[in-house]
Amino acid sequence: MKANLEKIINEEKINNLIETKTSPEKINEILNKSLALKGLSMEEASVLLNVEDDETLDKLFKAAKTVKEKIYGKRIVLFSPLYISNYCTNNCLYCGFRYANKDIKRRKLSIEEVIEEAKSIINMGHKRILLVAGEDMEKVNLDYIEEIIRKIYELKRGKGEIRRVNINIAPLSVEEFKRLKTFDIGTFQSFQETYHRETYKKMHPSGLKANYEYRLETMDRALSAGLDDVGVGVLYGLTDYRFEVLAMLSHAEYLDKTYGTGPHTISIPRLEPAQGSEIAEHPPHAVFDSDFKKIVAVLRLAVPYTGLILTTRERAGFRPEVLELGISQMSAGSKTNPGGYHEEKSTEQFKIGDHRSLDEVIKELSETGYLPSFCTSCYRLGRVGKDFMDLAKPGLIQKFCQPNAILTFKEFLDDYANEETKQAGINCIEQHMAEISDESLKQNIEKKLERINAGERDIYI
Ligand code: SAM
Ligand code: SF4
Repeated sequence: MKANLEKIINEEKINNLIETKTSPEKINEILNKSLALKGLSMEEASVLLNVEDDETLDKLFKAAKTVKEKIYGKRIVLFSPLYISNYCTNNCLYCGFRYANKDIKRRKLSIEEVIEEAKSIINMGHKRILLVAGEDMEKVNLDYIEEIIRKIYELKRGKGEIRRVNINIAPLSVEEFKRLKTFDIGTFQSFQETYHRETYKKMHPSGLKANYEYRLETMDRALSAGLDDVGVGVLYGLTDYRFEVLAMLSHAEYLDKTYGTGPHTISIPRLEPAQGSEIAEHPPHAVFDSDFKKIVAVLRLAVPYTGLILTTRERAGFRPEVLELGISQMSAGSKTNPGGYHEEKSTEQFKIGDHRSLDEVIKELSETGYLPSFCTSCYRLGRVGKDFMDLAKPGLIQKFCQPNAILTFKEFLDDYANEETKQAGINCIEQHMAEISDESLKQNIEKKLERINAGERDIYI
């Protein structure tokens, strides 16, 4: 298939917009508009990306927090990645798995090893896994993927299980995507890394990934093959972040117009050190913390109904500052090397910045007013793609997501939390229950909590 690439990304248009500055009055107007949850045009997003002074940045952050809470409430969905292979035929200059890295210990997990890793993730209390692999379709082919997904879904560990498998592997052809759809996956993620052609060319000197167009059309192939949820992303640090954000918004708008649904999630990885990578050690366009926060806030306002994912690339101490600006999902307790949950010494893809256990992260979330969620119900009830977007209107997400967060969090507390975390979690649930004004909804949740107390699991609304 061939999409009209100019419709996805028009570099000239983006370059013309990138420096857009305007009066303080106009900025206030844009921020007020964003509070109506209607999203932002590329031009408006560009204005906000160019905000530099502390006072206006503060207003931007406040608007982002308001939008986040209006739509998502305080809930944060948790997941963990499962790296299945670090073989790769590509040569992305920033990545520890690149083909030219001869110091790496290559590993592809056997089916049994994948299951052992999945068991460790279940034992932490997770219900969602993101399967991740280097790009080598001979090593990680669809037969292998099919078998591991089936076996992961079949796994039961006491009261634990994986209820949603998301995936971040090599981009596939339309035919392959059609087959992938039959494996009952959640979201298919693939990041463009950089939308800037020249930078893309420099960063991806060889392998299939060197083809910018093929990568850019990944989501066209996925959606036209019938996949419901796709996740996009940029690897921040490779080129001017303003260009990347505007280009990604252009991509999201194109997908929405063409397929009736935009990306389900946006990931915001920032370059981290990776074995032997000069680029990863010294990013050509390093994104500082203050800019990173601005990126998250602008994305939250520009595409209010799209999930924003924060990973353990970011430092433990910094993550709370970003969470409040618009994050809806985060990873916790992660390892980025195949076999990593068993202390295996294979090479990590990159260095992570948050080494805390899931239990520690949950305790912090509970104590700081968030509501940890292990919910997977939308996907299992068919609330995906356009249906999800239609549902994701103010109030409705809270009608489903908030109760399901409470129910799945209670399961976690009963089955996995240590004593201190359990106490913090119980207080957190009480606090969030007290804020529900709809009495019949509250009673419904209370009844379901009693069933969980009595040992039932996987109860959702
Ligand atoms: N190999 C597939 C690919 O490249 O799309 C899928 C998985 S790849 C292991 C997942 C993502 O990790 C990449 O898309 C890239 O954005 C990110 N990544 C690679 N090197 C990184 C680094 N040094 N720091 C942070 N993230 C990195
Ligand atoms: Fe391979 Fe993906 Fe790493 Fe590139 S980012 S070298 S494709 S694993």
